[in-house]
Amino acid sequence: MSANLSTNLPTTEFNPAGEALGRWWTPQDDGRILCELCPRACRLKPGDRGFCFVRTNHDGRMVLDTYGRSTGFCIDPIEKKPLNHFLPGTAVLSFGTAGCNLGCKFCQNWDISKSREVARLSDPATPEAIAQAAMQWGCRSVAYTYNDPVIWAEYAIDTAAACRAVGIQSVAVTAGYISPQAREEFFDAMDAANIDLKSFNEEFYHRVTGSHLQPVLDTIRYVCNETDVWVELTNLVIPDSNDHHTELQQMCDWILETVGSDVPVHFTAFHPDFRMTDRPRTSHESLIEAYDLARKAGLRYVYVGNIHDLRRQSTFCPNCGKLLIERDWHQLDRYEMNENRCGYCQHVIAGVFESEPGNWGRRRQPIRISAPQRTPLPPSRRLRCRLLRVTRQATMVLTNKPGI
Ligand code: SF4
Repeated sequence: MSANLSTNLPTTEFNPAGEALGRWWTPQDDGRILCELCPRACRLKPGDRGFCFVRTNHDGRMVLDTYGRSTGFCIDPIEKKPLNHFLPGTAVLSFGTAGCNLGCKFCQNWDISKSREVARLSDPATPEAIAQAAMQWGCRSVAYTYNDPVIWAEYAIDTAAACRAVGIQSVAVTAGYISPQAREEFFDAMDAANIDLKSFNEEFYHRVTGSHLQPVLDTIRYVCNETDVWVELTNLVIPDSNDHHTELQQMCDWILETVGSDVPVHFTAFHPDFRMTDRPRTSHESLIEAYDLARKAGLRYVYVGNIHDLRRQSTFCPNCGKLLIERDWHQLDRYEMNENRCGYCQHVIAGVFESEPGNWGRRRQPIRISAPQRTPLPPSRRLRCRLLRVTRQATMVLTNKPGI
C-alpha cells in the first residue's frame, strides 16, 4: 500500500467562489477547449459548461467551479464506502461536491450529482482544513465520495496531498470513468478506491448511465495491476436490468482473469430512485444468487450490501474457512485477524489491516468545517486575472449540524 508520506503540498490556486484553473485540457483551432479529464471529451465554447456541470470554458481556459467547496462533511464507518479490507472499523471523513460525469438513471445520490446550484449548496473547506479535521476527529482516512471525484480531481488530489502530509490516507469512491491522461496522477494520490462496475454490458452502460463500459474496465485493470492502491469493486444489482445470470458470470470471470481472486466484490441492493422508479428494491434472494455465482467463479472475498446478512457481510479465511471479521451492516463484531493474517491458520488475507480494528461502529456523524477568513472577491465574480491564493493557514471550527 502507498503509505508513504509525501511532502508535496497542494498547489492549485483558487478563489473563494470555488473557481480554480482546471487541468487536462487543450485549446482547439475553432476557439473551443477540449476537456481530457474523462472519456466524455467535452468540447466547450467560451461560456459552456461540460456535461458534469462543474467545468467551464472561462475565456478560453478550463475552470473547475467547485474547488474548496463541498456539499457537506460526514464521518462514516469505512465499511460504508464500501471497503471491507481497508483499516476495518475505522472512521473516514467523507465529502463530495456537486455534478457528475455519468448520467445514471438510477442514481442513488442524485440530489448531489445533478445539483445545478453549486454555490448555494456548498460548504467551503481548504485541503488543509479537511486534513486537520480528519486528524482532530480521529479519522484514519478521507473519502472523496457522494459524487464522482474524477470531475473535481484537482481538489481531490490536493486534499489527498494535504492528508498524506499528516499521515491520513485517501479513498476514492468512483465510477472509474477517467481518461488515461489523468488517471495516473489521480490514483497516485489515493491509497484505496472503491470502483463501481455498474454492469458488464455496453448497452446498459450506454442506455442507463450515458457512458461506456470499456474505459471503466481499463481503469480497473490499471489501478489493480499498475498501482499500489487497494481496490474493492461494487456492483449495484438492479432487478431486470443488470442482474442476468450470464452477465454476472461474465463479469466475475473477467474480474478473476484480469485482476485476480483477491479483489473484494460487493453486490449491493438497489432502491428505486431518480429516474428509475419503475422497479422494486433488489431482493435478498437476488443478492444471494450473485454472491453464490461469484464465489463459485473463484472470487475469494464477496459481500452483499444495503441489507442485513451477517454471513455474507463477514470475512472468512479462504484457506481454513474460519470466520475472521464479523459484520452486521457496518458494525464489526468478532475480529480474529493477526494483523494481515488469519488468526487461526496464518494465511495472508489481502488488504490493509492493523493489529487492532477501529471502534467507530456504524455511526454517521455530520460535521461542519469552517473555512478561514478569506480575502474578499472583487465585485465581479468573473475569473479573468482574479485567481488569488487563499491563505492556507486554516483556523478550523467543527460543529455538529443536521444530517446531510
Ligand atoms: S470531466 Fe466534465 S467537462 Fe471534462 S470531459 Fe468529463 S464531463 Fe466533460
